[in-house]
Amino acid sequence: MTDIVEKLRNTSDLSDEELAALIETDDRDAAELLRRYADETRQKNYGKKVFLRGLIEVSSYCKNDCLYCGIRRSNKDADRYRLSREEIMSCCENGYGLGFRTFVMQGGEDGSFTDDLMCSVISEIKEKYPDCAVTLSLGERSFESYRRMKEAGADRYLLRHEAASQELYSKLHPKEMSLQNRKDCLFALKELGYQVGAGFMVGAPYQSTKHIVADLRFLQELQPQMIGIGPFVPHHNTPFAEEKGGTLELTLRLLGILRLMFPKVLLPATTALGTIAPNGRELGLQTGCNVVMPNLSPVKVRKKYDLYDNKICTGEEAAECRGCLQRRIESAGYEIASERGDCID
Ligand code: SAH
Repeated sequence: MTDIVEKLRNTSDLSDEELAALIETDDRDAAELLRRYADETRQKNYGKKVFLRGLIEVSSYCKNDCLYCGIRRSNKDADRYRLSREEIMSCCENGYGLGFRTFVMQGGEDGSFTDDLMCSVISEIKEKYPDCAVTLSLGERSFESYRRMKEAGADRYLLRHEAASQELYSKLHPKEMSLQNRKDCLFALKELGYQVGAGFMVGAPYQSTKHIVADLRFLQELQPQMIGIGPFVPHHNTPFAEEKGGTLELTLRLLGILRLMFPKVLLPATTALGTIAPNGRELGLQTGCNVVMPNLSPVKVRKKYDLYDNKICTGEEAAECRGCLQRRIESAGYEIASERGDCID
């Protein structure tokens, strides 16, 4: 198995069969070699830098009904909120003072966040903080909407494709959602000049190795600037409440594979990874990750942005989160870079 890791390091690609074998292996030498080469590759491209993204969870209202997600519209027990424009601006002010130079506005698909509102919030942020990048993660919208928000100053868009295989996508989403539309959105965002992030959950119900290989192939086709993956974590009020979650081992293995397949990509050590293991994000950083996304949302809403059970970082103020992450990053052997942190492609 270590010969496959050598090949991946040398060529940044493998055959479907080799990828499948590496995804499924329990060979510890191969896992350790993969970790070492992933770290070597991230250090060659990004040194020891870790980029921070201040995450502002703008709304827990959602018109979609993704089967895995705690804020799906069918979850009648969800306690919903949306941030006002003033609250969003005050998160940015707080975050700027803490050294963040990227703000990510993420939320459910909430019709109240119209194009007019988003465009005016985006322009205000860019006017006040011209040295910062604005990232959006608001789900599927029209080409025209993406175009207007780009024109208003948005720089990046995160939209995980969730599952590139039609078979798996249909098992994770209700009938009215379409994989083709999700993919069309991602290509539209690229065409409009956004730096784009795609990705998927690891260990989602019904996910097999073959589906993961399809995800990797789709990512090769899309060539996003950022790839977000994290373990699936069940939420008690969803149809997947009793399903098993994704594992630390498989998530780390895929992070290592992604770093070698996409040497320059931005790769976050996600909150979900930190949720399933106390040192999950540190291990992610040591396996090729170079981004972390500390929570900048007002503390009073954090528990309500309840995508999955036991989500971490819901109790502390942003400044405490920043301090905690700084310690974690340094203890893992890396350093915070106080810059926008664009992809070096
Ligand atoms: N509405 C936006 C933001 C979604 S939330 C959008 O559609 O892009 C961000 C990500 O959280 C999702 O893309 C999904 O991959 C992840 N997520 C949702 N539920 C999850 C769960 N139960 N476990 C792990 N990750 C989950």
